[in-house]
Amino acid sequence: MIEIAGVTKSFGAFPVLKGITANVNKGEVVCLIGPSGSGKSTILRCINGLESYDGGAVTIDGTRVERDKPSIIGIRTAMAMVFQRFNLFPHRTALENVVEGPIFVKKEPAAQARERGRELLARVGLGDKVDAYPAQLSGGQMQRVAIARALAMQPKAILFDEPTSALDPELVGEVLSVMKSLAEDGMTMLVVTHEMGFAREVADRVLFLDGGVIVEQGPAREVLGAPTHPRTQDFLRRVL
Ligand code: ATP
Ligand code: MG
Repeated sequence: MIEIAGVTKSFGAFPVLKGITANVNKGEVVCLIGPSGSGKSTILRCINGLESYDGGAVTIDGTRVERDKPSIIGIRTAMAMVFQRFNLFPHRTALENVVEGPIFVKKEPAAQARERGRELLARVGLGDKVDAYPAQLSGGQMQRVAIARALAMQPKAILFDEPTSALDPELVGEVLSVMKSLAEDGMTMLVVTHEMGFAREVADRVLFLDGGVIVEQGPAREVLGAPTHPRTQDFLRRVL
């Protein structure tokens, strides 16, 4: 579904992606791991057109992602993104945050969007927080609202950029368990994470990125359990 073929990207003279080739198939969960500055967020941003790339191609079901083409709006909708910081509108309730996209971007009837919004909030365990404002929610609850908001767009895939790294440790589990249930329901997911337990348990495949290059990729149990590249071994020693 997501095809990344030889993608390069520089910021000024500084090469950040040095020819990335990878794919995410429908229904697959792929975890993208690697040290800070290796280009993980940049890859996600190139996939949904928040960032342009220089060479190669990103395609979504055969449609090339081009930041300045009208088709980018469809791609943004299809590739929902969940960020480290939840980016909720502070003056809107949980439900209003969830229905914003469906009503204003997808032009769904408000009543229908609100009904589905309630269902989605219930699905992430927040059926009783529909009318709460972000300031009244914990970090874990805010992140679950952000996941419900992503689902509300009925995306083809969800891109997660370190969704739990801004959370207090005791709140990480509730967000990971929602993500795990999405995976079990067959959602296609590309997840940048430092949660190796989640990667080992939920990911079909793991990509290890270092210095703008995919150094190693394969089934989660192989890359995490028996990495062959010294840089992967060194990284996993430091994070585990
Ligand atoms: P982290 O784990 O810290 O989030 P990352 O793997 O997500 O790191 P990126 O955010 O993709 O890394 O950044 C890769 C490199 O590109 C870094 O060296 C970063 O400083 C640089 N970079 C990212 N965005 C920009 C930008 N808008 N302008 C200039 N340099 C940038
Ligand atoms: Mg990042």
